[in-house]
Amino acid sequence: MRLDEVLNSGESIIALATAPGKAAIHVLRVSGTDAIAITNQVFKGKDLEKQKGHTAHFGTLRDDDNNIVDEVLVTVFKGPHSYTGENTVEISCHGSEYIVQKILKLFSEKGVRYAKAGEFTKRAFMNGKLDLAQAEAVADLIASDSDASHDAAMNQMRGGFSSEIKMLREKLIHFASLIELELDFGEEDVEFADRDDLKALIYDLQKVIKALVDSFALGNVIKNGVPTVIAGKPNAGKSTLLNALLNEEKAIVSEIAGTTRDFIEDEINIGGITFRFIDTAGLRHTEDKVEAIGVERSYQKMKEASLILYLFDAANTDFEEVRAEVDELRKIGTPYILVANKLDLVEGQKLDAAFSVYQKDLIEISAGQKDGIEELKEKALHLVKADEFRTGNTVVTNARHYQSLYETQQSLDEVLQGLNNNITGDFLALDIRTCLHHLGEITGEVTTDDLLANIFSKFCIGK
Ligand code: GDP
Repeated sequence: MRLDEVLNSGESIIALATAPGKAAIHVLRVSGTDAIAITNQVFKGKDLEKQKGHTAHFGTLRDDDNNIVDEVLVTVFKGPHSYTGENTVEISCHGSEYIVQKILKLFSEKGVRYAKAGEFTKRAFMNGKLDLAQAEAVADLIASDSDASHDAAMNQMRGGFSSEIKMLREKLIHFASLIELELDFGEEDVEFADRDDLKALIYDLQKVIKALVDSFALGNVIKNGVPTVIAGKPNAGKSTLLNALLNEEKAIVSEIAGTTRDFIEDEINIGGITFRFIDTAGLRHTEDKVEAIGVERSYQKMKEASLILYLFDAANTDFEEVRAEVDELRKIGTPYILVANKLDLVEGQKLDAAFSVYQKDLIEISAGQKDGIEELKEKALHLVKADEFRTGNTVVTNARHYQSLYETQQSLDEVLQGLNNNITGDFLALDIRTCLHHLGEITGEVTTDDLLANIFSKFCIGK
């Protein structure tokens, strides 16, 4: 049986929707054509089949010997007005593993199958309740752990991103229909579609797609955190700065498995974005072999990072020394902020005038006094382009979407090239269809069983 046949067979499925273990309550979800009828067989209370959708009913679940399994609250959703689009029942029971197992057994005996990972959301997609990008956003939403990742997932789930893709598709379809109309009149050599207008439309589309493609750099850091290296000589005040950042933000301090002692990662939430701070040995040159390895690894970490905070002790570092470090930093190519720390110890709390050449990249702080921390945060957010996110632009966070958008971009280039070379309408139409194909992959107008299986297997069971 093909996947869509299985999914549309209406076979009822059940799963625990809440996290397993002891809890105040647990919720089990049953979905399928017969979900309400089957629940009705084991439920004593009202006749569930006679109830309206979106109503909750108190009663008991009983086994075949009429023993009470639990007192429950049952919420009835009638298809298509449910998450999956099918008849659905949510059973809130007491939060015991034992009761949950009993209920699962009860339903299994009535022919209800245990759901696979993501199967409820997959059904929602198959039944047209969500498009693919929205379904993926459901998983992102569950995994989100910062304001920014939550906002991005919520926007995508509510269809913000999908409607942008849909708008692009509609423009392209309009374009294609003009070209194809010409093909119908092939013999007569007519041109319905003004070539300059078509070019203008493609430029327009390219601009929107480029913005989306470019937003992935930010989307990726929103989802996974901004890898930030905090570097500088011993005693520059790196730990003090981390603490200052941590204290203010009640951060989640985590020691990521597999990192060595000198690469401890702290996760810090700045302006709703997670920064993953990686402490390193710094850039100094050394004759010591063991230390040299550490420095080499620091370089590597700095290369891979999205941001470097380079700290120096402003009271004990002269300009030449900093200049040598900045030259090294520039070679690495990662955006950096020069952080002059311990300004409270500098005479007159003013840096040497020579430092003014670095004004653009320099922030003066006293980590110990928590002075200048806000400016540093603002600058960090600015460098990772968080401003774009704050202005409400759509941000691509999903690598699969990025890939499809990138391919759309490539095929748009080909359409434009075709227009410039005056290729015939049938070839143009072909290139446009390729664009439509790639855009369709994002929202799921174009899918394969493998793709769906891959996406939904990453969901938790019960979602
Ligand atoms: P790290 O080796 O780079 O991690 O440096 P630490 O954070 O351990 O700081 C080294 C020393 O400098 C400690 O004694 C801190 O208290 C002190 N320190 C750090 N920041 C400041 C600051 O802004 N002002 C002053 N006066 N002392 C600081």
